Amino acid sequence: MSIPEPFPELDELLVSIGEAGQRMAEIDASEGAAGNVSIYIGWALDVRRRFSISEPLTLPVAVRALAGGQVIVTGSGRRLRDIRSDPAANLGIVTIRADGLSGELHTSPRRLFEQLTSEWNSHLAVHDDLVSRTGTNFHAIVHAQPRHLTYLSHVPEYADEAFFNQRLLRWEPETIVNLPSGIGVLPFQVPGSAALMEATVASMRTHRVVLWSKHGVMARSDRSVTRAADRIEYAETAAAYEYMDLVAGGRAHRLTNEEVRAVAGAFGVDTPLL
Ligand SMILES: [Zn+2]
Repeated sequence: MSIPEPFPELDELLVSIGEAGQRMAEIDASEGAAGNVSIYIGWALDVRRRFSISEPLTLPVAVRALAGGQVIVTGSGRRLRDIRSDPAANLGIVTIRADGLSGELHTSPRRLFEQLTSEWNSHLAVHDDLVSRTGTNFHAIVHAQPRHLTYLSHVPEYADEAFFNQRLLRWEPETIVNLPSGIGVLPFQVPGSAALMEATVASMRTHRVVLWSKHGVMARSDRSVTRAADRIEYAETAAAYEYMDLVAGGRAHRLTNEEVRAVAGAFGVDTPLL
C-alpha cells in the first residue's frame, strides 16, 4: 500500500520514530545504543529548517528505486530512547540522488553522531527491494534486540524456521493476524556485513519480521514506524511465552492447529503456515 494525501509532515514522522524508539526501550530491546530505525519517504519533504547542514554522501549500496526520495535514519551510537526528546540531534535525513548511488545528508547543528547507523546497508537494501517490488511511497524499518527472541535463536532447534514458527505462533490469537507469514529466521552473520544485508533482503520479501540469530530482529511496515515496532513487540511476546514454557518444563497446551486456523479464518488472514 501507499500513504494517501495529505501526507504526514516532518514533525509527525519525527514524533513517530521517537515513539517507536521509546517502545523498544520499554520492552528491553535496545540496551545502550543497540537498535536502529529508518523510514523511506517518497513524497517531497522540506527538511532544511530543522536539518540545516548538508553534505554529500556516498551510499553503501545502489538504491535506484529510492532515487529522488528521502530516508530518515538514526545516527551510529545514538540511543533509541533519546530520539523522542531531541530527534534532530539523533537522526539524519538523506536525500537520494537520481543515480541511486549517492545522496545529500541533512543534519542539525545539534547532531550528536559522526556516522549513520552501522546497519545502514541493510536498511537501504530492504527499502530499495520493497519499494521496487510494491511501489509504496512509505517504508519503515526497525532493528532491535529483544531478549527472548534472541535467546531462543541460541537454542539449536529454533534455528529451523518451520519449527520456530510452529512454536511461536501458538501463544496468542494476535500473532497469526499480525505476522501472517511468520518470522524469518537467518543464521548468525556479522553485523553490518554484506552477507547479513543480502540474507535480510531475501527474507524480508516474505516476512514482516526477520530474526538475526544471536543478535536481534528487523521489522518493516509500509504504514508506520510504530506498526513496525508493534510487530517486534508481538514477536517478542510470543518468544517470552515460549521461554516461560521452556523454563516451566513445557507444561502448556498452546493454541491447537485448529484454533489458529479458526482465528485466521475469522480475520481473513491469508497464511502459508497452516
Ligand atoms: Zn544490532
